Amino acid sequence: MSQKQLLVILGATGSIGLSTLDVVSRNKELFDVFVLAAGQNAKKMAELCIEHEPLYAIMANQQAAEQLSAYLANTQCQTLVMHGEQAMSDLCAHPDVDIVMSAIVGAAGLLPTLSAVEAGKKVLLANKESLVMSGQLFIDKVKQHKATLLPIDSEHNAIFQCLPSSLQNAKGDQKLQQHGVSKILLTGSGGPFLTRDINTLKDVTVSEAVAHPNWSMGQKISVDSATMMNKGLEFIEAKWLFNCDASDIDVVIHPQSIIHSMVQYHDGSILAQMGNPDMRTPIAHALAYPERINAGVKPLNFSDICDFSFTKPDFSRYPNLQLAIDACSAGQGATTTVNAANEIAVGAFLNGKIGFTDIYKINAQTLEAATYNNVQSLDEILECDKLARISASEFITKVAH
Ligand code: NAD
Ligand code: MG
Repeated sequence: MSQKQLLVILGATGSIGLSTLDVVSRNKELFDVFVLAAGQNAKKMAELCIEHEPLYAIMANQQAAEQLSAYLANTQCQTLVMHGEQAMSDLCAHPDVDIVMSAIVGAAGLLPTLSAVEAGKKVLLANKESLVMSGQLFIDKVKQHKATLLPIDSEHNAIFQCLPSSLQNAKGDQKLQQHGVSKILLTGSGGPFLTRDINTLKDVTVSEAVAHPNWSMGQKISVDSATMMNKGLEFIEAKWLFNCDASDIDVVIHPQSIIHSMVQYHDGSILAQMGNPDMRTPIAHALAYPERINAGVKPLNFSDICDFSFTKPDFSRYPNLQLAIDACSAGQGATTTVNAANEIAVGAFLNGKIGFTDIYKINAQTLEAATYNNVQSLDEILECDKLARISASEFITKVAH
C-alpha cells in the first residue's frame, strides 16, 4: 500500500465500527477516516469526530444530525454533518473513497452497501443481513462492478483465510470443488444457552440473552447468537460468499471460539484459522489484505487452553438454525422473509414484548404465511422485506404480553 487508503465506516458507533477505528488508529500511516456514519448516538459520534476528524459525519435522521452539530458547535472539529440514507449511499460512492466498512446492523445497511458495491469499492462486509436479504443480486453487482468483497464476520473471514489463493481471487464464480475443497466447516459457540435446561429457555431474560460467553457484540447479533439464528444467517452468508450449496456447509459447535471456522480438502486436510475471539483480527486482515497489519490482539496462548471441544448442533435447542438452513435451500424469498421477521422479532424481544422462544414462533409463522413468488430485483426484495415485517408485527401483537 503506497498511499493512505480513505475509509467510510458505516455503523461507526457500534461494536464493529469502534473496533475498526481502533485498528485504524494503530495504522495511521495506512488509513484515513473520510466518512463516519451511524444511527442515533450523536454523543458517541461527536467523540469519534473529535478524535478521528472525518471530513463527513452522517446520522440516520435530521434530529440526530442536529444533536451532533450541537455537540460539535463549540469545538475545533471541522467535520461536515449530514443525515439520511441517501447521503450515506452518495458518500460510499465518492470517487476518493477506497474502502467501505459495512457495519450498520440489519436491513438498514443494504442500500449504502450496494452503493459501495456499485461504485466498485473494496467492501468489508460485517452487515451479513444485507447479503442474506439480497443474495444473488448482491453477488451479481459485486461481479458486474468489479468490487472487492471481503468478509468481516469472523467465521467467513476464517474460511476466506483457509481457502487457496486461487479461490480467494476468484470473485465467487468458481466452485469450491474445482480447487480441491470438499466442505466448509462453519463453527459456532452455541451461545450462552448451550447447556441450559431446554424447558427454561422460555424464561430467558434480555440480559441473559445478550451476555455472550466469548464475544462482546451489539444487542441484535448477541440475541441472534443465543438463538443461533446468527449461525443460520451465516450459513446463508457462506453460500453466497463462497459460491457453494447448502450441502457443502456443515455447522459445528465449538464452545471455546478458538477455531473461527475450517475448510476441508479432498485429500483429508482440514485447515483452521485460530485466534483470540476479537473482531479486530478479521477487521485488520480485511483492511490490509493481502498484507498483514497490527490489530492490537494478543496471540493465543495454547498453554492457557484447557478445553477444546466440538459437537453437533441440537436443532431442538436451536430451531431458528434449522429454519434458516431450510430457507437457504428454499431460495431468496424465504431468506429475505426470515431475515426481516427475525429483525422484528428480536426487536420485540429486546423491548420486552415477547419471550425468548417466541422469536422462533414469529419467524416460523411469518415464513409459513409468506406468499412471495419471484424475488430477484431490488424492488421485489424490498417489497418482500416490507411484507415480512408487517406480517411478523401482526404475529407479535398476538403473542405480546
Ligand atoms: P451494534 O448494534 O453495536 O452497532 C450497529 C451500528 O449501526 C451503530 O453504529 C448504529 O448507530 C448503526 N445503525 C443502526 N441503525 C442505523 C441506520 N438506520 N442508519 C445508520 N446506522 C445505523 O452492532 P454490531 O455488533 O457492531 O454489528 C454490526 C453488524 O456487524 C451487524 O450486521 C452484525 O451482524 C455484524 N457483525 C458483528 C459482529 C460483532 O462482533 N459485533 C461480528 C460479526 C458480524
Ligand atoms: Mg460470526
